[in-house]
Amino acid sequence: MIFAPQLARSQSQIFVMDWLGTTDPVLLEILWRMADETREQGVGDAVHLRGLVEISNHCRKNCCYCGIRHANHRTNRYRMEIDEILECALQAVDFGYGTLVLQAGEDESMSCSWVVDLIHLIKKETNLTITLSLGEQSEENLSAFRSAGADRYFMRFETSNQQLYQQLHPNSTGKLPYRISLLEKMKSLGYETGSGAMVDLPGQTYRDICTDLQLIGKLEMDMVGLGPFIPHPDTPLGKHPEKFGPRLAADPVQQELLTCKMTALLRILYPDINIPATTASATLNPADGTEKMLRCGANVIMPNLTPNHYRRKYDIYPGKAGADADTTEQHQQILDIIRNAGRTVGTGPGSSRHYQKNRKNPGNTHHEITSRTSQQSPCSRFY
Ligand code: SAH
Repeated sequence: MIFAPQLARSQSQIFVMDWLGTTDPVLLEILWRMADETREQGVGDAVHLRGLVEISNHCRKNCCYCGIRHANHRTNRYRMEIDEILECALQAVDFGYGTLVLQAGEDESMSCSWVVDLIHLIKKETNLTITLSLGEQSEENLSAFRSAGADRYFMRFETSNQQLYQQLHPNSTGKLPYRISLLEKMKSLGYETGSGAMVDLPGQTYRDICTDLQLIGKLEMDMVGLGPFIPHPDTPLGKHPEKFGPRLAADPVQQELLTCKMTALLRILYPDINIPATTASATLNPADGTEKMLRCGANVIMPNLTPNHYRRKYDIYPGKAGADADTTEQHQQILDIIRNAGRTVGTGPGSSRHYQKNRKNPGNTHHEITSRTSQQSPCSRFY
């Protein structure tokens, strides 16, 4: 039995490393099947839809991979008005989505009270669950957003390799431990919390991917997004990737394969978390990137509801899937993808089962919660 819980720590690392390196089609079929079966048992057949609204592309940060980094003067900056965002929220309700994801760069002019008012308004006008993806915010802001009614927070750690993290995030307010401390804060505030990483960053190794998977377990995340790195020509990583190191995949096909392998391993390790089929995967393979992700462990899709004239400007990487798509057509296509994959369309908030089991009960103290989940953490079986 390959997934025996009694696998020793060293054996388990070799196990993940072996899978990441394999190209044998027969073994890969086994991997996809194990991930799909684990997904079915862990979170069921429903695919939950989250309406994504990219509310601002202003950013104070200079992440070396990201097209909306502060130093990119070619970016046409925008910040949506509150009533425009509400329109998108109402569109999400019309489409039957249970969740709205509000994403932005780290926009210094987006005040805490503005975000609080926005959350209040959406909660007053709809029954949508709200996920925030607004980057690194102060503990006071995180607390105020939560009190206003925000349900979830999503912030990737991007890479668990501290040296690579520092190279990729110059002049950032903190280093990897700081970002991780904010994820811990989000959990303690009761947010359903998500994180994740990019796949195939220059300088990233198989060992780093293995450590990324391990970190997700240590952090006890409720949802995890993994997306392939896509070079943007107006960024240091797009212009001078050689300065950061070699890439694991030689072309988009290999990159997609690596992303699928990491997603499958993620699902096998953490059966009850929510895993989105990311936009970056659909960008890499517009024909069937989303469907492939659904077949190797994903159970969430995030249709983009940002109005098209803004959507094009939220240019974190080039050729972003759906950048010019008609919102209603895109919605229909996504429903088709779900049905073609033999899955059902989720209804309601689609909260992560990991969150429901471990942290949803407000009566639990943080200490009780932590000790209980760490005993149950599937990661401890492998690392
Ligand atoms: N400011 C927010 C949102 C950032 S954009 C935050 O910090 O969380 C959302 C995600 O897009 C990032 O977390 C990053 O993983 C991904 N991303 C940015 N540039 C990318 C690129 N060139 N290729 C692939 N993914 C990228």
